[in-house]
Amino acid sequence: MTDLKGVGNALAEKLKKLHIETLQDLLFHLPIRYQDRTRIYPIGQLAFGDEAVIEGQITSCDVQMGRRRSLVCRLRDDSGSLALRFFHFNASQKKQLEAGKKIRCFGEVRRGSTGLEMYHPEYQLIDGEWQVPDNALTPIYPLTEGLTQNKIRQLCEQALDYLSPYNLQEWLPDNLREQFQLPALYDAVTYLHQPPNTANLEELKAGVNPAQYRLAFEELLAHQLSMIGKKFAQQKDQAVRIPAVGPLYNKLLNNLPFSPTGAQTKVYQDIFTDLQSGHPMMRLVQGDVGSGKTLVAAMATASVIHQGFQVAIMAPTEILAEQHYINFSNWFTPLGIDVAWMTGKLKGKSRDHEAEKIASGHAAIVVGTHALFQESVQFHKLALAIIDEQHRFGVHQRMALREKGIHGAQLPHQLIMTATPIPRTLAMSAYADLDCSIIDELPPGRTPVTTIVVSDQRREEVIDRVKVACESGQQAYWVCTLIEESEALQCQAAEDTAIMLQEQLAGLKIGLVHGRLKAQEKADIMNHFKQGEIQLLVATTVIEVGVDVPNASLMVIENPERLGLAQLHQLRGRVGRGQAVSHCVLLYKTPLGQQGKARLSTMRETADGFKIAEKDLELRGPGELLGARQTGMMEFKVADLQRDKALLEQVQVAAEQLYHHHPEAISPLLARWLPNIEHYLSV
Ligand code: ADP
Ligand code: MG
Repeated sequence: MTDLKGVGNALAEKLKKLHIETLQDLLFHLPIRYQDRTRIYPIGQLAFGDEAVIEGQITSCDVQMGRRRSLVCRLRDDSGSLALRFFHFNASQKKQLEAGKKIRCFGEVRRGSTGLEMYHPEYQLIDGEWQVPDNALTPIYPLTEGLTQNKIRQLCEQALDYLSPYNLQEWLPDNLREQFQLPALYDAVTYLHQPPNTANLEELKAGVNPAQYRLAFEELLAHQLSMIGKKFAQQKDQAVRIPAVGPLYNKLLNNLPFSPTGAQTKVYQDIFTDLQSGHPMMRLVQGDVGSGKTLVAAMATASVIHQGFQVAIMAPTEILAEQHYINFSNWFTPLGIDVAWMTGKLKGKSRDHEAEKIASGHAAIVVGTHALFQESVQFHKLALAIIDEQHRFGVHQRMALREKGIHGAQLPHQLIMTATPIPRTLAMSAYADLDCSIIDELPPGRTPVTTIVVSDQRREEVIDRVKVACESGQQAYWVCTLIEESEALQCQAAEDTAIMLQEQLAGLKIGLVHGRLKAQEKADIMNHFKQGEIQLLVATTVIEVGVDVPNASLMVIENPERLGLAQLHQLRGRVGRGQAVSHCVLLYKTPLGQQGKARLSTMRETADGFKIAEKDLELRGPGELLGARQTGMMEFKVADLQRDKALLEQVQVAAEQLYHHHPEAISPLLARWLPNIEHYLSV
């Protein structure tokens, strides 16, 4: 950077804060918005919020006392008038701006006490010497402390002067640019730093100008290429081959009180093909809440342990891990298979005992939380890692997992399961390194859940409803949500609610479960609920995943407007698991905004997880949906997944084309957009 004129070490440091270290960084440091100083606006046409150049004659100039003393000048042109207001001024300024003078000024139009006003506009007297306005729009750049717009503008101008198609090389082949109607990179960059006065400001503001598209396209393309690259790299890695279905698999299925659905069998076939390939499986299984993902995981587990290898099953929360532990123990212990347990809370002797079972291979199945990734947990022969609810796991955890494989460069197969459906376009981008299977059918005998949206003014009626349901032998959940990050506050709220409900529903047996309880206490309460000894379970969102009590047919969710749709959908999936007709009551707090209304009606109208995810994407953007996975992988300089989602499909086509026909473009594009790529190429 110090090669540029006027850039010393101090300035270079400041630029570094904006992640500007090279000429190219500077060129990709795009304006956040533009000002139009290219034309003079008639005062009569201005609206609040406009930033504009105006010109006129001063008709009066007085000091107003008001709450704060200010100098107020009235400026008039042929179309109307407005007030210029200065809170800081001196005598000479007052003299300069006396009635009769002609001035030109630039500022933002605000709503002042006299109507349209500009506060502290930039201004200049017109005294015969007419200055031509700028002929390009004025860029406004993101700044950091000690850096001015003028300074960074000068730097960008210098950079553009140096710029040529040689030092900002075009890597998109002509035919590809034609196919997707993309302007040349050089033109796009120049345009965005200095849009001509004919540019459409609205379009630029919305980020839908072709020049913006061009850059977003290239950036998304680079990400896509890195994902495909990862996938191809994985295909070169080695993993154990899991050959046949085997007797253990058959025993597992024979012991079940039901048979797998068509969808479960189909997805298992996908998994099985991967397991036989000799390369590590990297498969994402999406399946709506209750679609029976656990059984699919167990089918894969049976095949792998039959060959003498170990399987690890990881879940994001203790409660979910416990559910898996119970399920896998019920399925596999009768078949003579030992299941080990590992979480962060496990300490002392019992931890050592479990760790020993894992290291010796005595336990063929290990269930747990993130704690499975700890360095101190050594596997004997890990061949398959099953990760439930992938979106909560970060990149580094996947990395840690790789190292748990069998010695001799054999990597574990990975099966990733999520109940948060990812809209197709987004999945193709964010999960391009994974193969996808979808369990698109629910087990038979489910009754659809009727969802009711009710305001908290009708809370008493809802409480009555709970009473009636419980007295008739059904069970219910009451879910408390809170915005507060603090788990302690959430738990407190649940405690308060439980006390309040117990007062109003004196005859009912009410239980309380939240994240601050000891694992044993939680398990006991869940058990009592399962046995029917608790009729109403008050809970925080800890029960979101994995809880399975078929007799529970009513769920009340307090303040559902605070949760994402995907999370609501997960919660709601806890009911509708038995024979009774189930209900979910969304008890929202008034007043509810437009967006809140739209979101809750989506919940009422559909039970289809994919439709809900599409809606969530539309309303809240991709960040929420992708969660942890997003960290570090989906951070963009220019692109915005929500705004540019129309590009995603084109980008996928382009990435394939480039991969096969212009492989030479790949590394330069990755270097340009993902300079830190080595950090996660190996994940
Ligand atoms: P999820 O996909 O939400 O993890 P689960 O694996 O917890 O779903 O399954 C939900 C419930 O459906 C469990 O009680 C499970 O035993 C049951 N189930 C799974 N597969 C079938 C099937 N093929 N037929 C009937 N019930 C099934
Ligand atoms: Mg599950």
